[in-house]
Amino acid sequence: MIPLAIPDLSGNEARYLQECVESNFVSSVGPFVDRFEDMVGDAVGAAAAVAVSSGTTGLHAALNAVGVGPGDLVILPAYTFIASANAISHCGAKPWLFDIDPDSWTLDVNLLKESLEAETELQDGRLIHRASRQRVAAIMPVYAFGLPADMNPIIETAKAFSLPVVADAAAAAGATYKGRAVGDLGADLSVFSFNGNKTVTAGGGGAIAGHDQALLDRIRHLTTTARVGPDYTHDQVGFNYRMTNLQAAVGCAQMERFDGLVAAKRRIRENYDTRLARIPGLAAFPAPPWAESACWISGAICDTEQLAASARKVLIAAGFDAKLFWKPMHLQPPYADAPATAQTHSNEIWKRILPLPNSTSLTQDEQDLIIDALVASAG
Ligand SMILES: *Cc1c(COP(=O)(O)O)cnc(C)c1O
Repeated sequence: MIPLAIPDLSGNEARYLQECVESNFVSSVGPFVDRFEDMVGDAVGAAAAVAVSSGTTGLHAALNAVGVGPGDLVILPAYTFIASANAISHCGAKPWLFDIDPDSWTLDVNLLKESLEAETELQDGRLIHRASRQRVAAIMPVYAFGLPADMNPIIETAKAFSLPVVADAAAAAGATYKGRAVGDLGADLSVFSFNGNKTVTAGGGGAIAGHDQALLDRIRHLTTTARVGPDYTHDQVGFNYRMTNLQAAVGCAQMERFDGLVAAKRRIRENYDTRLARIPGLAAFPAPPWAESACWISGAICDTEQLAASARKVLIAAGFDAKLFWKPMHLQPPYADAPATAQTHSNEIWKRILPLPNSTSLTQDEQDLIIDALVASAG
């Protein structure tokens, strides 16, 4: 079975793990954690980054730090991994689910502006969602599959409504938007994941990147139990969300090969794009002019759900991992009652997406076999 996405640990991973064991630094303090934070901050074009235990905990801490709390709403595209919505729920808030733009599968920027104008009002300096009477507290664009959302208009709208922006950039390390690095697109905070299936892994882990040093200091404090001084005094309800030195050891070894790993993902995307274009009924993943995707997951979009389902069957029978990907949030039991815009495009697109194996270690021969199986199924 050729899996969808597995890590390539052929660099210094084993050596750095050995160093952790020999130095006895296996927990949440250690030289690899500091080094990993520097490497991630540099790679994503942010002033600094705080390493955390996962992308999900990073999103939770980031939302908490920008003031999202119980009873609030956070604007979120419905087409995302459930971790984005769960991080909002962990704050006691709820997602306000928006439809996606069909040409990027990211937050629809026109809908964002129109809905905020039509469906909210200011009350005592608070932005209130009229239908639910809940405060709108933040916008969380998602860089789906590693492709940045159209951030300039999103930041413009966020400023007009005085809303903080926390970007779910979980799978987008390496992406650019209008030539700018992914951690430098105007969001207050951008959150990355280093889970085992992402382009760069730390076994598990995340990072919160930004430019506001005071905000990042607060997040570091918050994610390390909000402890002040050497005695056991804690000045708020904090979290134990720190990345361990063991995770960071793997993360550092991966970050040393960051450019190569992202290049491998882009090469795989290009191969699929050029060869799948010749198969009737299949089209490439979106590539809007504003961004260069990090190409975390590649594949095709099928003209119909039936075609996607039959292609999945053929691929699985031939020994390739081919799954349905993210089911949009408004279709998930915990979020069925969340406020939502009409979900025209989310509904229309999600079952037609056909992710294909795209590990950075995937060989050209393996990719050819996958494409041949698809060609045969179309014929
Ligand atoms: C992977 C991913 C996450 C979650 O990250 P974890 O490290 O697994 O917690 C969140 N959002 C998106 C869009 C992702 O792709």
